[in-house]
Order: sequence, then structure tokens, then C-alpha cells
Amino acid sequence: MNSDASEQTLNDDQLNRQLNDLAERYVRLSLRVGQHSDYFVDAYYGPDSWRPQNVGDPLSSIEEQCCALISSLEILPVYTSSSVYQRQQFLTIQSKALLFYIEQLQGKTSSYKEECQRLYDASVPSYGTAYFDTILQELEQLVPGEGELNQRIAEYRQQFVVPPEKLSQIFNVAISEARKRTLKHVELPDCESFDVQLTNNQVWSAYNWYKGNSYSLIELNTDHPIFIERVIDLAAHEGYPGHHVFNALIEKHLVNERGWLEYSIYNLYSPVSLLAEGSANYGIEVAFPWNERLTFEQEVLFPLAGLEPASAEQYHEIQRILHQLSYADNLIAQQWIDDEIDDEQAIKLFMKYALNSEERAGQRLSFIKHNRAYVMTYNYGQDLVKAYLKEQVKDDSNDALWRAFTALLATPKTASMMTSVSSS
Ligand SMILES: [Zn+2]
Repeated sequence: MNSDASEQTLNDDQLNRQLNDLAERYVRLSLRVGQHSDYFVDAYYGPDSWRPQNVGDPLSSIEEQCCALISSLEILPVYTSSSVYQRQQFLTIQSKALLFYIEQLQGKTSSYKEECQRLYDASVPSYGTAYFDTILQELEQLVPGEGELNQRIAEYRQQFVVPPEKLSQIFNVAISEARKRTLKHVELPDCESFDVQLTNNQVWSAYNWYKGNSYSLIELNTDHPIFIERVIDLAAHEGYPGHHVFNALIEKHLVNERGWLEYSIYNLYSPVSLLAEGSANYGIEVAFPWNERLTFEQEVLFPLAGLEPASAEQYHEIQRILHQLSYADNLIAQQWIDDEIDDEQAIKLFMKYALNSEERAGQRLSFIKHNRAYVMTYNYGQDLVKAYLKEQVKDDSNDALWRAFTALLATPKTASMMTSVSSS
């Protein structure tokens, strides 16, 4: 038994050494791709010496090197140690997605479905308009009146806007609460920290820029009003236990402890984003189970914002139903990417099925033009993470859910890795 164990360790070490070399190639290639695409490298805190020194190789040369990397990964022997095997699998899937992105940058056209599959490793369900019509009917009854439903919803929601001058204070209170709740369950480095800044003129509503050394810069976009329920959503999604925690755990466990440097780079348009966005969204309800969230909002956030706490419950019920419309974004993205609709039709569909105002619909279309199929990482990612964790957690306790959630963040899986475990 001892000799088996040492042989396995040796094999793991050998494989890890080979993977270290391949990881370096993957990181260097990703950084080179970043020279051709401004937003591609979302975070990098690996060796500075790996950053490209020259203006940039042509994409055709990067493509060739990426094909060679994938071949090298595919001829590696498969060992049974699950953590090393998982490393090999993850790096292979990420590298294949990198190749697909390089092809896209060179003008390759692809359908929405193909992009979901090859860039994000995901087979995404689709819902037709009939599915959304049923949800719209439910909302018609909850928010009755004259005029278009999106207008009525917009008017109803006006009473829940956070006054801009109070935004920073309220967001800081929410993020402290999210942090406190997360630290009860997740061990983070002592030095972890973040800053919050307000910004504008962006296609996103908030962003976490992870800088390494357990530090994040969280930006909130003030282009559009921020509604009260978004405060907890954004504090948890961008901060705790969302993007900040995800990146800090990866840096701690995989980059610093194991030296797996492929994790020191985060390629935005890649399979890991499905877990990043999905866990950041699902993490909201892990940190704030429904009743606790309602209590905290009614007792703390609504009064701070000068809003009426008694209105919170009904507002959340409407939000819950509105959330079911989130897959409309995917449908519209699919139709726009596949050239089935033009910009004007996309705006109309956002107003009808996502119940956006015209201005918000324009912002959503800009997001899709900029990020394409990425839009599905939020809702499908959330559903996938939820289903995966449900499989992992056999009892109903919140502690067990936190343990499984933290384990997933510390050893990231792509969509196919999560579904193959779920279905086995
Ligand atoms: Zn996010």
C-alpha cells in the first residue's frame, strides 16, 4: 500500500511537472491573445516575465502554437489522481476554448450554440417565447393597469431606487454583511481586501477587477438607477462569496500552494466564466437565504435608503418572477448572433420579454454586441452550479452547502466537468 502510494505520488509529480510547462505555454499564449483583444485577459497575476515583450505575434502564429499546445495536452497519459486529472482536464478544455477564440478573432463566424459549446464548454437549454408569455401573464396580474407591462413595471420599481447620494454607504453596509457571512464559512487569506469605486459609461452594472494578492477593485456603474435589491446582489456577486472570493481561493489554493500557474490568468471569454458568473450569482442565495435576506433588507437596507420596509416582500415576489425572464436574454442573444433579428427587433424583444425600458434595452443590446453568448454564463451558470451543488450536498443544511460551494470555488470545474459528475 505504501509503495502504491509513493508510485502514485511520483506519477502525480511527473505529470504536474509536465503540466507546469504546458501551463506556462497556455498563459503566455493567452497574454498574446490579449494583445489582440482588450477585454480578453480579465486578470493576471502570474510572473511578469511571461508578459509579451514585443508588439505582438500575428494571430495565425498564435493559432499554430495553440494547436501544438492542445496536441501536447492530448498525448499526456491519464493518471488516476483526481486532482491532477482535473488539472489536466481543465487546462485542456481552457486551451481548446482559447483556440476557438483565436479563430473568432480571425473572422470565423459561429452560431450562438456553437459559441456556447466551444467557447464556454456548455450545452445550453433554450426557451421559446411561449415560455416567457406564461410568465408575463402572471406579472400582468400582479402589476395591473393601463399601458405596456414594461412601463408599468418600470413605474412600480421607481419607488425602490436607491438615492444616488446614499449608494456608497448602503453598498458598503451590504458588502460588510456579505463578508461577515462568508467568513463564517470560508477561510480567506488574512490580507484579503477590496476597494469600491463608482464609475459610469459602461455596458455592465458592476465589475470586479481582481489584482492578485487577494485584492479586488469593485466598480459600480452609476449610468442607470440602482434598485435596492441589486445592492445585496452586487455585494455578494462581485464581492462575497462571489468574484472576489472565487479569485482569492484560486490564488491561495491553486496558484500559491500548488504552483498551478494556469490559474493565475483569467480569460474572460472562456469556460471558467460559466463557473465564475454562475457561482457569483448562486452565491447570493448561499450567503443570504431568502428569509434572512428579507429581514436584513427590511431592517437595515430599506431604512438606510429611506424606502418603505413593508413594501419589500411584495417587491421581492415580483423580482422572483422577473428573474424567470432572464433566459429571454439568451434567446435574444441567440437570434441576434444568428442574424435572425436586427438591432431594432432585439430592442423590441428586450422590452417585451425582459420587460426592459427602451434605454435599458439599448444597454442590454450593447452588452450582447460586446460579449455575445457570454450573457448565458449568468443564468445558465447559476442553474448549473445550483444543480451540481444539489447533487453534492446530501443533507439540507446551510453548512454543508457552504462546504460544497467553497470546494467548487477552490477546485474549479467547467460546465462539462460539472454535468459529467452530476449525471454519473
Ligand atoms: Zn460577474
